[in-house]
Amino acid sequence: MYFTTHALAGAVAGSLVANPAAGFVLGMASHAALDSVPHHDYDGPKAALLDVAVGAGLLLAVLPAVSGHPLPSAALWGALGGILPDAEVVAGYLAKKHGRRWPMLFPSHTGLLPHKNLPWPQGFWLQVLLDVALFLLLATA
Ligand SMILES: [Zn+2]
Repeated sequence: MYFTTHALAGAVAGSLVANPAAGFVLGMASHAALDSVPHHDYDGPKAALLDVAVGAGLLLAVLPAVSGHPLPSAALWGALGGILPDAEVVAGYLAKKHGRRWPMLFPSHTGLLPHKNLPWPQGFWLQVLLDVALFLLLATA
């Protein structure tokens, strides 16, 4: 799934607990759960950079402005746990560009857990709807 979706879901998961470490672990678990939902993935750096800007902007600027307070620590750590697994996807993309391989470790990237696809545009709109719902959950928490 997109950075924005993983970040928002991780923040929601983290906000369920008051502890940053538990939030981080729950955020990582949310990554595996979301990867099993059929979704669209892009494969280029331009879309990735736009996605990171949207996700970071929503969590660090828009959400605090709407809710009137900064993201709680556990939610922030949840968001970090939610996005961290895809660092290896970025590393794999960069390694491939240089003719190398990067071993995947996260279960939904190795094939151990399902990573299902839903083509554009359905797979895109599904995530937009999910993002709106997750944002509203965070904004009203
Ligand atoms: Zn992933």
